[in-house]
Amino acid sequence: MTFKMLGLSDALLKAVSKQGYETPSPIQKKAIPAVLEGHDVLASAQTGTGKTAGFTLPLLHILSQSERSKQPPIRALILTPTRELAAQVHDNVKQYSQFTQLKSAVIFGGVNQKPQVAVLNRGVDVLVATPGRLLDLHSQGVVSLKQIEILVLDEADRMLDMGFLRDIERLMNLMPVKRQNLLFSATFSKEIKKLANGILRKPVVVEA
Ligand code: AMP
Repeated sequence: MTFKMLGLSDALLKAVSKQGYETPSPIQKKAIPAVLEGHDVLASAQTGTGKTAGFTLPLLHILSQSERSKQPPIRALILTPTRELAAQVHDNVKQYSQFTQLKSAVIFGGVNQKPQVAVLNRGVDVLVATPGRLLDLHSQGVVSLKQIEILVLDEADRMLDMGFLRDIERLMNLMPVKRQNLLFSATFSKEIKKLANGILRKPVVVEA
């Protein structure tokens, strides 16, 4: 099995090979085709399994298939529980998208919002964010989530542990109902299952 066999675009294959990845990891083999087919996905995956590429590569593939405007709306949103994870996921997004036209940004709390606002104003296709800062910037009218096509909840169990359930629900109310949802979690408690049931439509279930 190769990344090419998964149907990813040449620009993404180039980035993958630049990273030195030779073969897709087990989670990538299962998640990438499911996402490319447009399914919602419920994935159980720990850090270190290659989960980030598992959702980022197909998401970038889907976004790069359609015509892109100069000042794009945010079309994909990746929510993470912490600023460290947000920064790390965004590093991955930048690396994987480097040979595409797609633009990305990361926003999180605890730092001055001005540089984040400036980047958002230029227009980004993919936004990586922690829930609190995103809601904050939304309430200031800096971001619109009305054109979100793909939502990723990364480390959803940690988001619930950190008390982000209400924020996630608030954010989802700001997005179109019709969208693709990907939920990644290391553990599957009752609460996660409930969240997944509320968000995902006929998900493909994937395990690392
Ligand atoms: P993650 O589980 O997403 O945090 O990824 C763990 C590490 O595996 C990261 O350093 C990735 O760069 C790396 N990685 C992801 N996919 C592959 C792959 N197919 N082959 C080799 N390394 C990979």
